[in-house]
Amino acid sequence: YEAIISKDISLGGVVDHGVSKAKELIGHALKSRVETIDQNTCEAGEEDAFFVADLGEVYRQHLRWKKNLARVKPHYAVKCNPDPQVLRLLNELGCGYDCASKAEIDQILEMGVDPSRVIYAQPCKTKSHLRHAALKGVKQMTFDNIDELYKIKQISPDAELFLRIHTDDSGSLVRLSQKYGASLDTTAELLELAKKLGLNVVGVAFHIGSGATDPKAFLKACQDARFVIDQAAVYGFEIHTVDVGGGFTGDKTFEPFSAVLAAALEVYIPPHIRVIGEPGRYYVGTAFTIACSVIARRTVTDATLGTTSYMLYLNDGVYGNFSSIMYDHQHPVPMVLKAGNDIKYDVRRSGYDTPSMIEYSIWGPTCDGLDHINSSVMFPEILDVGDWLYFEDMGAYTKASATRFNGFTNSHEVIYICSEPGASALLGF
Ligand code: PLP
Repeated sequence: YEAIISKDISLGGVVDHGVSKAKELIGHALKSRVETIDQNTCEAGEEDAFFVADLGEVYRQHLRWKKNLARVKPHYAVKCNPDPQVLRLLNELGCGYDCASKAEIDQILEMGVDPSRVIYAQPCKTKSHLRHAALKGVKQMTFDNIDELYKIKQISPDAELFLRIHTDDSGSLVRLSQKYGASLDTTAELLELAKKLGLNVVGVAFHIGSGATDPKAFLKACQDARFVIDQAAVYGFEIHTVDVGGGFTGDKTFEPFSAVLAAALEVYIPPHIRVIGEPGRYYVGTAFTIACSVIARRTVTDATLGTTSYMLYLNDGVYGNFSSIMYDHQHPVPMVLKAGNDIKYDVRRSGYDTPSMIEYSIWGPTCDGLDHINSSVMFPEILDVGDWLYFEDMGAYTKASATRFNGFTNSHEVIYICSEPGASALLGF
């Protein structure tokens, strides 16, 4: 394991990140949009939060995937962020899709994607959705329990089944194996029943948990997948695909993770077996930046200490695109986009060491006290109503799980930019 990690580091890691070009384009898009808004005269909602999405970043992530995990065909997890332009780009790049519901299946098939490129990766399916999937020709699907097998027998008897197995996901941000995955002491029983019902088991699937931190989880999962491949053969099933799920993060951990996975696949999964994955966060996490305006401010003075700090209320919060704080255990970092007449981007941390730092806490717009984005952040500027903050890395499990609580919108403008000519050519941007 250690050898795999150090081998990867010496490979030089990441595909060249066109980060500076991207930053320039993102900064320009943020500034141009903010410049058009006058909060003293605008219509209700004109000053709503908005995203800038860099499709070039999605493209770079795809190249990086191919470089590091050439054997694994990505099936993008639509649930993570069903943004239409992201889905379109991934279609152009030849990816498959992991769908979990009727709506996700329809969104993908309506783009003209062949149903054979979709895996219905939901081990506990709604009957009517399963009927719909069968009608539309989506055959690949996961299962992990006896009751699901009877359901599939009744509704989609010619499905191509993937047996999802339990993993050790204790090192992940969002644990999935507490809810899904057959333990290895139940797989024989499941395979036996599948055989008896005349169903077709063609794959083994796993997921090491979203936002995983321990790449060794892949070693054990591949070992277990191999156990099930051999076990399935005893029941007369020829497994032709292994689905390694998601769990990858788009940061620098990707190289060590993919190195461990690639090595585990080489050791445990015979070369004639096709391998697919279901990355979500990896593709979009870093591709989206959100800008939010300050709608209210409360001044907090501490007479004893002689300090003044401020509570800033933004027009987006945990019931909206910052749902990632609640559901995905994220800590979005606020940065200043507009302070008074000064519209900036990429202030970085320069000047942030000035002695006259001011403390802010950041809150969302709903009436719930839980709607809290950040309890303490320091800026050198005095920020007030009408100013703007922005947050990077807001692409994964953000707008996908935003609600309309308190009547606020969950449908925010997305400004698309493309920092990679390859992606622009594919999309006609
Ligand atoms: N596949 C399945 C079945 C999932 O449940 C999820 C996330 O919940 C994913 C893929 C995507 O995971 P990630 O975003 O960690 O890549």
